[in-house]
This record gives sequence, C-alpha cells and structure tokens, in this order.
Amino acid sequence: MKFRLLVCFSIILLPQLASGMDVITWMQKDQRKTAEGRITATHETGLILQTTDGMMWPITNDEIISRERNDQGFLLLNEAQLSQRLLVELPAGFKIHKTAHYVICYNTSRAYAQWSGALYERLYRGFVNYWSQRGIEIHDPAQPMVAVVFDNQASFAKYSERELGAATSSVIGYYSMQTNRVAMYDLTGTSAQSGVRRSTVSQINQVLSRPEAEWTVATIVHEATHQLAFNCGMQQRYADIPLWISEGLAIYFETPDLGSSKGWRSIGKVNRTRLARAKQVLSRSNQAVLPGLLSSDDSFRKAASALDSYALAWSLNYYLLKRYPREYANYLKQLSEREALKDPPKGERIVEFNHYFGEDLNQFERNFRKYLASLR
Ligand SMILES: [Zn+2]
Repeated sequence: MKFRLLVCFSIILLPQLASGMDVITWMQKDQRKTAEGRITATHETGLILQTTDGMMWPITNDEIISRERNDQGFLLLNEAQLSQRLLVELPAGFKIHKTAHYVICYNTSRAYAQWSGALYERLYRGFVNYWSQRGIEIHDPAQPMVAVVFDNQASFAKYSERELGAATSSVIGYYSMQTNRVAMYDLTGTSAQSGVRRSTVSQINQVLSRPEAEWTVATIVHEATHQLAFNCGMQQRYADIPLWISEGLAIYFETPDLGSSKGWRSIGKVNRTRLARAKQVLSRSNQAVLPGLLSSDDSFRKAASALDSYALAWSLNYYLLKRYPREYANYLKQLSEREALKDPPKGERIVEFNHYFGEDLNQFERNFRKYLASLR
C-alpha cells in the first residue's frame, strides 16, 4: 500500500505537461555547455535535463551557470530529425539504416547494419511478447532507439572514450544511460582473417553463429536489452534500480538466437557459464550471499567480484522467474514506477525484497541454493 501511494503521488508530480523548455548553461567537466529541453527529475543537489534527441544530462546545482525558460514546446525528435542529428554529430561516412523501432547509424557495411537491425527487431519482439505474457505492460519507445555501429575498434574507441575512459579497449559494445544509445563495432571485422568484409546478411550470420562468437553476440544482445528496458516502460533512466535485477534480467535475454527468423526462442534458457560460476561461488562458503547482493551494487562495480555477482544475479532472476513469476512481475511493476533521483532510503531494498518474496531471507536463501544445486 505504501508503495502504491508513493507512485500515484509521483506521477502527479511529473513535469511532462509543462509548456516551454528549460535552457540551461552549465559546466560539464571543464567545458561550458548549453542545452534546452525538459527537466525530468529534480533533487536537492541537482536535476536531469532531457533534450529532444532523447539524451539525459544529470546536472548538479553547483555546475549550473544560468537557467532560463523559452516558449517552445518540448517534442522529441522524430525518426527523420533524429537521423539527421546523428549524421551531423558523427564523423563523415556514416549512413542510416531504419527498422520499425531503431535508427541504426553505421559506417561499416550495409549488410552488417541490416544484420544488426534484424537482430534488434527480433529481440524487441521477443522481449515484448515475453513480458506481455507475464502481465507486464510494455509500451513502444517514445522515440526510435539508436544504435551506432562502427567499422572497427579504433573508430568505436574514439567515440566511446569520452564515456568509458580506459575501459574502451576491453569493451565491444555498451548502452549509455545518458545518450540512450547502444554503440558497438562490426564483430565480423575482427573474426574475418582474410580481411574481406562479409557482404551478405547470411554470411554475417554464419560467422557470428560460430561457438567462439557466442560471447560477443551475447554482449550486444545484453546491452540492447538494457536499452529496451529503459525505453519500453520497464525502468526509468537514473532511477534506483538494483543491479542484481537489471543485470540479471539483461543476462536472462542474452543467449543469442541466430537460427530463428522470428521471435527469440532462447529467452530464459539456462545460461551454463553463469550457472557454473554461481555454483562455484555458493560452494565456496555457506555464508549468506543474498543480503549483500540485494542491498548494494558495489560488488558489480569491482573488477574482482563483478563476474561472481553477475552470475548470482542471473541465477536469482532465473529462480524467481521460475518459482515466483507473479511476485516477480509485481516487483518489476513497482520498480518501473520508480523515478529518477528518487532513491529509497538505504536498507529499503531488502525490505522490498521480503515484501514480495517472503519475510525469511535465510530460508529463502536455503531454498535458492537447493534449487541451483539441482539445476543442470
Ligand atoms: Zn549489463
């Protein structure tokens, strides 16, 4: 009840209907930046400004130099305007490939852009069907989703360095909450020993269906799943969504399904790599792992513990979806209503978890361990 009241209250406060746009000038790192848009969230320490290209800028009060209002209505750019904006922003040589829900901006082969578009659309259909069947309302994105596809690692690195820093060299694709885009590079470029660019969609599919490519394709799907969750009403960007659920959910979808022309038949398949890792973590100690996993995101962000936490997150989401499907759906609905910058108090995550999945976390963990041990 408490949660529902909070939700109604916050919906009324959403400033979406306000007319006119906010024009803010602020210092971003060492650069002065001006942008106009709508403020989607506020906090005593700052705000989030959404611009018409769908980007969201978290700005602290200290960074703001000036703030005004104009009389223009806020309208997200449509497909053609967004495409135009991308072509202006990116270096020369980029082209646009449009699909039903995506604008794919690429400087690699057209076939690779088509392959990516088809993969994303299949994932989109699979994602929408999967959740609709489980009572989760999924809506179309307010604006086409953007994927930027680079021809090689070097051009990808140039684009992503600003956001990823030193991690750029070890990343093959990512979703950015700020730009709302996924960015990646042509994966066949690296596996094509001959150096010849694969020129048809089926050749690309052939290269990327090989077992050694599974992990790389899974990463691309994983990042696209984050983008879907944030654009189809499941999660709000910059809201406090526990990583155990957002990451576990992205892994839940990531098993590549390159064989099917429709849908995404491998959703919810046992992820053997993650399962093996989770079993290893649990067998190391009888000490409870769930309190730490549920209450803090820290272990996901530290290199030493990240893989363990991702494995546990996948396992926990898998277990909940199999054993507590209705409760899981209700919890997702509550999280979907959580707004940016409105973080619940510390300690609330475990209270919420207990609210949906039972009061006795120790007993829950014993059942969870038993279930995983029996999973093959
Ligand atoms: Zn992720």
